[in-house]
Amino acid sequence: METTVYLIVVDGLRADFGKRYFNGLNRWLEEGKAAYTKLRSGLPSDSRPSYALIATGVDGSVNTITSNGSRQRCPVPNIFGLARQKGLRTGGAMYHWWSELFNKTPFDPATDYRQYDLERDIQDGYFYNADETPDEVIFEKAREIRAHSRPHLLVIHPMSVDYAGDNLGGAASAAYRENCIRVGELSHQFIKEVMAEEPGAYFIVTADHGARDQGGHGGDSDEERLVPCWLLGPNVRPIGEQEIRDQRALAPTILWLLGLDIPPHMTVPPLTHLFH
Ligand SMILES: [Zn+2]
Repeated sequence: METTVYLIVVDGLRADFGKRYFNGLNRWLEEGKAAYTKLRSGLPSDSRPSYALIATGVDGSVNTITSNGSRQRCPVPNIFGLARQKGLRTGGAMYHWWSELFNKTPFDPATDYRQYDLERDIQDGYFYNADETPDEVIFEKAREIRAHSRPHLLVIHPMSVDYAGDNLGGAASAAYRENCIRVGELSHQFIKEVMAEEPGAYFIVTADHGARDQGGHGGDSDEERLVPCWLLGPNVRPIGEQEIRDQRALAPTILWLLGLDIPPHMTVPPLTHLFH
């Protein structure tokens, strides 16, 4: 049977807020249906370097994406390209920086907001460039892409939590908390729907980086670097661990779940201890 992996990257979701407000996922954890760990993002704890790290399994010292201004294509093999080269289908509903990193740069909204090209690493993509795009739209686009091409690897990347963290008062604001609760519900609903149709699918819900109470991120504090990570799937071990894992473990974990080889540049081992 073909494996599918759904990766939900909630932009700017700090670990303690995820653990407090993603009620549906935390209920699954309590019921023994999910695993949970914390990940430490790379440095700087900013979006573009974190997207590149999540997809390549190495940080900016290796993949060259060291700041939000690094607009070049990422030259290190990434999970989308590695899956595509093995005949798997890839897709995403994501901020346009992912397209710049892995498909084409610079981003031209007129032609690049919707891409369907089997020769590109993210083959079936909806790429938004308005930070305030509602999360509901992102999940709806992910449903459309899933129906359109049934990707083996589909990434859903909502932005409202980070938008509140950066622009509406920081992690201490009501907007940040409310957006956490809402995207937690959207994630839970999406997973429930897909799981009912695809009982063999895997789901990972995590974030690129966190947020400071007073707003912003980029530095080396637990607020800015620690992100939650829930894992669901047919053979997941229902562990809620206290340990902090390395965010670079995500890429090899995804390849391993897809049944693909882990390339030698990914030196952090996959999170196999969270699966039977
Ligand atoms: Zn971000």
